[in-house]
Amino acid sequence: MKKIAVLTSGGDSPGMNAAVRAVVRKGIYEGVEVHGVYQGYQGLVNDNIKKLELGDVGDIIQRGGTKLYSARCPEFIEPEVRKKAIENLQKRGIDSLVVIGGDGSYRGAQRLNEEGIKTVGVPGTIDNDINGTDYTIGFDTALNTIIDAVDRIRDTATSHERTFIVEVMGRDAGDLALWAGVAGGAETILIPESHSDIKEVAERIETGMKRGKKHSIIIVAEGVMTAAQCAEELRKYINIDTRESVLGHMQRGGKPTGSDRVLASRLGAYAVELLLGDVRGHAVGIENNRLTKTSFDRVFEESHRIDEGLFKLSKELSI
Ligand code: ATP
Repeated sequence: MKKIAVLTSGGDSPGMNAAVRAVVRKGIYEGVEVHGVYQGYQGLVNDNIKKLELGDVGDIIQRGGTKLYSARCPEFIEPEVRKKAIENLQKRGIDSLVVIGGDGSYRGAQRLNEEGIKTVGVPGTIDNDINGTDYTIGFDTALNTIIDAVDRIRDTATSHERTFIVEVMGRDAGDLALWAGVAGGAETILIPESHSDIKEVAERIETGMKRGKKHSIIIVAEGVMTAAQCAEELRKYINIDTRESVLGHMQRGGKPTGSDRVLASRLGAYAVELLLGDVRGHAVGIENNRLTKTSFDRVFEESHRIDEGLFKLSKELSI
């Protein structure tokens, strides 16, 4: 009987559980034995692997985080460390692995694939920064969490006539900031993919104040600078009272939205389908609502790009 394993790695994201569930259920449906690796690559090295049954993934589709736990395992870049991980799979007769995680996790998966384990990647990260898919699992949930926070901040910003600077996650990518900024009606969105001219931001706030605008919301992606740094920079050009809000890890938690659950279910099952069809070294994704596969090489070929049209629109709508 064919045996596959599944793990979650890197930063957790809402919907990872739904993806694990899909891998396990689709696998068992197809007559495959599915094993769960606990604590990502660390668990693979430490032999923390357990056979999963249908019931093991019951009651998790609605939960944030990951039942398989996640971990960072920096030493996984060492071939010797990966050799141990591969041995732990092979001694159980497992020849295939589904890796649910971000681009760092894909690098590990690519190495394993080259070294004898058939791997397929599933994009699980709130950052939406992976090539070969329009959306990553967890992005929609994190986006809605941020929007909820920004709506609340707007209430107090309006009442106190203040400028708020909201720092959001995304590592080196600006998708969360951009989408949340558009959806939350932010006046300014600062993303790493575009040069941020703080003097220009200050001038825009000043112009707004002159025509009677009393509050303003600035969304800054963590990849640009911190909210505190942004406030400091602004004060070089304009004398205003600002408040900073760092949303932090609350953005990674919470129950996944319907979109993330469906996306995770589709991508998890598709990963199993690919492995059963002997496709390896690929990442699954969704493009124009169609399931797609992209080789790891192609995923890494280009750096992630922002939706330029949406960024332009955000500026047009926040004049
Ligand atoms: P997120 O973007 O949500 O944080 P991620 O998957 O990018 O998720 P990373 O911490 O970058 O998170 O990577 C997760 C793990 O992948 C690392 O802890 C390490 O074990 C493994 N990994 C990362 N880069 C490599 C590499 N070049 N070779 C082998 N393994 C790697």
